[in-house]
Amino acid sequence: MSDTIRVHGIVISSMPVGEYDKRIVMLTKEMGKISAFARKARRPNSHLLGVTNAFVYGEIELYRGKSYYTISNIKASEYFTDVTSDIDKMMLGTYLLEVAGYFAQENNDEKERLLLLYRTLQVLGTGSMSLELIRCIFEYRTMVINGVYPNVFECGKCGRKDELVAINNNLEGVKCKFCAERDGYSECRPIKSSTMYTLQYVVGSSIKKLYSFELKPEIENEFILIIERLRVKYLNYEFKSASFLKI
Ligand SMILES: [Zn+2]
Repeated sequence: MSDTIRVHGIVISSMPVGEYDKRIVMLTKEMGKISAFARKARRPNSHLLGVTNAFVYGEIELYRGKSYYTISNIKASEYFTDVTSDIDKMMLGTYLLEVAGYFAQENNDEKERLLLLYRTLQVLGTGSMSLELIRCIFEYRTMVINGVYPNVFECGKCGRKDELVAINNNLEGVKCKFCAERDGYSECRPIKSSTMYTLQYVVGSSIKKLYSFELKPEIENEFILIIERLRVKYLNYEFKSASFLKI
């Protein structure tokens, strides 16, 4: 008899396999990304039927077979129905799941990524922020968790921590007023100080407070334009669900 393993996490994807089974990929607190089989989960009377779908968060019981995990039960505590009941939110939510799943690794500490995903889905459900801004904040913090993102806290040329006024054209860092003026803004582009602060905030904030701010429209627009450029460089992958996004 194999021992039951208990983990906490969210179902990232769920695929039908064979006649009645499903193959589930989950992002968990204890084991990072794992995939497992849910036997007979597509039978109408299965206790796994409603809880082995994407967006379900809860306590997952599984056991290890010879070469794969099998799910015995999921006690769901969150379904994110505010997200799944709205087509635009669901599309973005699906993208968030795909991005988190792509970068998460097996047997790796993915607690922060899971927390980011959970918090982002919560905010997406409330509708308190534009979908575009939610996407960009999530993406930028994902770059930070991945460990590959521009240093926005000091001038890449002289190390100054204040008077940061521009982002380098290679998107690898920022520049202070003095260095930017010296090179005549030829290698960098000016950005507003509130946008610079927003970039720093998204890097340094706790996940809990990550979405607790409001931006003036011109700052939001500039922030989004920068993240769109960073996305190409740092999240360089064609996510299937991205093609369905209107934003
Ligand atoms: Zn400088």
